[in-house]
Formats: sequence, structure tokens, C-alpha cells
Amino acid sequence: MSNPGITLALSKGRIFEETLPLLAAAGITPAENPESSRKLIIGTNRDDVRLIIVRASDVPTYVQYGAADLGIAGKDVLNEHGGNGLYQPLDLQIAKCRMMVAVREGYDYAGKVKQGARIRVATKYVKAARDHFASKGVHIDLIKLYGSMELAPLVGLSDVIVDLVSTGGTLKANGLVAVEHISEVSSRLVVNQAALKLKRNLIQPVIDAFAAAIRH
Ligand code: ADP
Ligand code: MG
Repeated sequence: MSNPGITLALSKGRIFEETLPLLAAAGITPAENPESSRKLIIGTNRDDVRLIIVRASDVPTYVQYGAADLGIAGKDVLNEHGGNGLYQPLDLQIAKCRMMVAVREGYDYAGKVKQGARIRVATKYVKAARDHFASKGVHIDLIKLYGSMELAPLVGLSDVIVDLVSTGGTLKANGLVAVEHISEVSSRLVVNQAALKLKRNLIQPVIDAFAAAIRH
């Protein structure tokens, strides 16, 4: 029998933690903590709601193909994914941070840009970086990384990085400084459009409960 309930895709870490109060507002309590459990499918107090735990950047893909009916993903991730097939009804105002350009302390970013120099950019956020530098008319060589971007300028892999910053503590600890703000980032609720039509009786109350619980 196919699953008659709804499946919500979440990632571990800050998004899971900050989603717990929203789930509670919708009357949903996870049966296990994904930080300590190795299970990737987690039941809840409700027979008709389950959670799947996936990599943050994979959330839009699961929802796009209907393997999850709903999901919670950062705007950074949604921007890279493109949002195809996803209904994005709510900015949940969680996991807030900023997408920034950062360099080594002492690197003359403004000067390089003014000279029209080609800049090497290391990032996980290839689309955001391309769009940002194209809009400034700056020519770049892009180097795709999957994590620990802060290392790249320190070992000469790149001149700059494009990364998410909240307190700036990680940049500071590595002798980097933010030099440009690209965008504000927070996490969004994403919904599979076909699922919304077929299971509106289950999905709409979750959207409504989340909407009522958002902290502005
Ligand atoms: P991963 O390590 O799989 O890339 P993270 O847990 O680092 O995942 O990030 C998941 C999501 O949390 C990101 O897509 C982003 O939206 C948000 N995020 C990342 N870094 C921060 C931060 N420093 N502060 C707040 N939110 C962040
Ligand atoms: Mg991370």
C-alpha cells in the first residue's frame, strides 16, 4: 500500500532544531532525535506524519520528485536548486544568516575589482556566486567546493570565497573578513505542488500552523 500520510524532509543540525517548535505548533512530535538515531525515516506521534532526514542540499530534490510532500530548506539551497516544481508558501524565519564574499585580511578586494582583475572564487554556491559577480561585471574563475570554504584563501586555492556567515566567528578564527553582502538567507517551507492538490486536507493545516508559529 502506498503511504497515505505525509512525509516531511528535514536536515539534521540547526534546521532540525529550529523546526521543532514549528512542528510542535502543528501537533507533531518526532519519535526520535535524528542527532542520536541512525534512522533516516523517523515516525512521529501522528500515524499520518513521518519525517525523512536528508542532506540540506538534497531537500528540494526529494520534494520536487514527490518522495517527500513537504520540506524545509535554506534560501541558499533553493537558489542553487532552482525551485522547479516547488511551491514555497512560507519564509519560516529560521536558520538566518547572510551570504557574503570574504577574503584574507589584507587582501585588496576593492583594488582588484577596480583593476578589472580576474578573481578566483571558491564556493559551494556556484549559481549565487556567478550571478553576483556577473551583476558587478567582475570576471571570475569558479572553483566548486563542498565545505570548509574558509580554507581556500588561506592555502592559495582562491582569492575570495562566497559563503554563509552568521556571527562571523569562523571567518575571524581563520583570519578572513567579509567584504561584500550578497543576500539575506533564511529557511523556507517547500511543498510538492501535486501533493498539495492530492493531500490538501493533511498539508494545508501544517502550512497554517507553521504560518501562525513564525517568529517575526
Ligand atoms: P551542510 O553542512 O549540509 O551544508 P549546514 O547544516 O551547514 O548544512 O547548513 C544547512 C542550512 O542552514 C544551510 O543551507 C543554510 O540555509 C543554513 N545555514 C548554514 N550556515 C548557517 C549559519 N552560520 N547560521 C545560520 N544558518 C546557517
Ligand atoms: Mg555546514
